[in-house]
Amino acid sequence: MNIHEYQAKALLREYGCPVSDGRVVLNASEAKTAAGELDGPLWVVKAQIHAGGRGKGSFKEAGAGEKGGVRLAKSVEEAAEQAKLMLGNTLVTHQTGPAGKQVNRIYIEDGSDISRELYLALLVDRGSSRISIVCSTEGGMDIEEVAESTPEKILNITIDPATGYLPYHGRRVAFSLGLEGGQVKQMVKLLGQLYSAFVEKDMEMLEINPLIVMEDGNLKVLDAKVGFDGNALYKHADIMSLRDETEEDSKELEASKYDLNYIALDGEIGCMVNGAGLAMATMDIIKLYGAEPANFLDVGGGATKEKVTEAFKIITSDKNVKGILVNIFGGIMRCDVIAEGVIAAVKEVGLQVPLVVRLEGTNVDLGKKIINESGLDVIAADNLSDGAEKIVKAVKG
Ligand code: ADP
Ligand code: MG
Repeated sequence: MNIHEYQAKALLREYGCPVSDGRVVLNASEAKTAAGELDGPLWVVKAQIHAGGRGKGSFKEAGAGEKGGVRLAKSVEEAAEQAKLMLGNTLVTHQTGPAGKQVNRIYIEDGSDISRELYLALLVDRGSSRISIVCSTEGGMDIEEVAESTPEKILNITIDPATGYLPYHGRRVAFSLGLEGGQVKQMVKLLGQLYSAFVEKDMEMLEINPLIVMEDGNLKVLDAKVGFDGNALYKHADIMSLRDETEEDSKELEASKYDLNYIALDGEIGCMVNGAGLAMATMDIIKLYGAEPANFLDVGGGATKEKVTEAFKIITSDKNVKGILVNIFGGIMRCDVIAEGVIAAVKEVGLQVPLVVRLEGTNVDLGKKIINESGLDVIAADNLSDGAEKIVKAVKG
């Protein structure tokens, strides 16, 4: 789960990290009061969406003004004006995809005098099973691009979980970033605070781009992007309350309410499968036969008829879906439950596209009988490749 920049900064402030004073605005009418509470003489007006690259992004609507999603203002009035221009409009950045994201929240914060922009991130490195610190002198830019063209400018160190964060980690980072004197001390302290926040809140990623050296020589967190481990959210009610559902895929959100493992993709074949491994294999074989999966969906082991019905509804609500492949290997899951769920769902939402069903395992005969006697226009398949071949043929002709 991701959160907004202003929420990330509030969280980091609790850990003692240096961040600017700022106010979040949900309505244009609040903008002037919010900006007036800050000191000036420089205000920065920042669109809050769950995507980076806002500064270099652009709005779809001409009425949103010419500049990107991060704008400088020299007065309270100008700050309020820029907030009004952006609110409700659609910001497109290299991370949003061409559809962009609607800006529903604006963060107005104090402007900083920037001397240098650095890059600093903590993330879970699956290779070493450790938390890794990534830093670079090339802050404020797209780090993927830096990694591509000048990889020697990126330092990556891992932290041994047995010792946790130690001051020498901070010193190594500070020296590699060319920091001096009091800045080194600040970095040692800041990294300790970031590490504590990362571990205590079960983060997956904490990216500060840029971390700045100000004209007065002090460090400041100027941007913050934080993602949390979804499997640990049950431990953190405070983090859960930061969830912004408008930022999430509506189908994925619906699926999470029913405890379905669903990821939306952009292909044309909707898949309903049990077990993550089988779901991956099903996606692979759809590609092998020349089509693309519209989603990953694992209905899980102990799915009920209601859960299967919901899953089917979510698949059919996707406008890109031109055909559906149900591929169930009944172990704990019973084939008759799947059959009943599919039929209940079709009765409720109708069936506008071809449906191929492949059932195998527990109660398979009963499952097939239920489908055959339902009067539904279902194409039966005998095995995985047969199912994939049939659905791709039904869709592509
Ligand atoms: P994004 O990464 O989405 O483009 P950032 O928050 O990193 O958004 O802002 C982009 C750039 O805008 C920064 O690299 C920095 O140069 C400038 N900027 C952002 N916030 C401030 C601020 N409070 N004061 C001065 N400049 C800022
Ligand atoms: Mg940034």
